[in-house]
Amino acid sequence: MLVVMQHGATKEQVERVVKTIEDMGYQARPMPGAQRTAIGLVGNDGRVNGSRIESLEGVAHVIHVTKAYKQVSREWRPENTIVTIAPGVSFGGTEVHVIGGPCSVESEEQILAAARIVAAAGGTALRGGAFKPRSSPYSFQGMGKQGLELLDLARRETGLPIVTEALDEEGAHLVAEYADCIQVGARNMQNYSLLRAVGRIGKPVLLKRGMAASITDLLLSAEYILAEGNDQVILCERGIRSFDQLTRNLFDLTAIPLVQRLSHLPMIADPSHGTGLRDKVIPMGRAAVAAGADGIMVEVHPNPDRAMSDGGQSLHPEQFQQLVTEVRAIATVIGRSLGAGVAAPADAARMGTPAHAAG
Ligand code: PEP
Ligand code: MN
Repeated sequence: MLVVMQHGATKEQVERVVKTIEDMGYQARPMPGAQRTAIGLVGNDGRVNGSRIESLEGVAHVIHVTKAYKQVSREWRPENTIVTIAPGVSFGGTEVHVIGGPCSVESEEQILAAARIVAAAGGTALRGGAFKPRSSPYSFQGMGKQGLELLDLARRETGLPIVTEALDEEGAHLVAEYADCIQVGARNMQNYSLLRAVGRIGKPVLLKRGMAASITDLLLSAEYILAEGNDQVILCERGIRSFDQLTRNLFDLTAIPLVQRLSHLPMIADPSHGTGLRDKVIPMGRAAVAAGADGIMVEVHPNPDRAMSDGGQSLHPEQFQQLVTEVRAIATVIGRSLGAGVAAPADAARMGTPAHAAG
């Protein structure tokens, strides 16, 4: 339930509502807005009788959130939530961002080359796994902490913010020391202790749809993160399992406008895992932006044939450049623009502004 206060409601009136919600055995989440304050009621597992609250002074009206997910829903917050992973790199506004990089961090040479390719092409964030959730325990599992340090090096050189995956609660704290945005992968979408942990950490989170998850499941998983007080969540369509063997996954384009209708959170798409086929990544990346995605995340490798994971779906550098050029044009047609991102440290120094670079 959401309690909307009258324009000009006093601090005392807001406090009275909070106290009443707590007396009723629920938790209150005040959300001061530019126009008026709303107070969310959470902790209920069914419809709450709002009559006691409706009659309090300063209350304009009470909205019953009809969905199983509450804070994630558009009923709860009608306007888009903007998720900022670094200055100049925000998801959920008019800008569309391209996150590029290899599946895994493999070496200093490889990640620096990949970061330069992404930055030069107009990508605005660098992806790359240091902890890899591989289907087989015998496959390359990632470079771990050393991989995070290399991502930090790439960020310092190019200014690109880092999106990288955490596999478990303990790892999330380590990843958070390096990442600008913590990725929770498809296999972990329903790892509720990990979701709670990244909710408490408070850094932006990229939550990918599980390969057998419904859209409602995805939104309920995001609710775990928001329930911990972190609304900086970007959702991502990355393909779901289907009976067809010709693609790795079935890339669900409809999920993009569907999620944007149901939730205020930004929604991006990953056509690399979504198709699993290099030559399908450009057309489906274009399609995702045309469908209204707030960004795309794409695997690109300086030498895909030598990649230690997902080489077959990784773009060659010139293909990544082509994709960025094409989605830039598509974004313009639908009244959006490609994000310019952060200035590389060298450019920023020339312009006399501090570059974004943690570390
Ligand atoms: C990835 O982005 O590298 C990845 C493992 O993706 P997913 O969780 O969607 O399989
Ligand atoms: Mn991958």
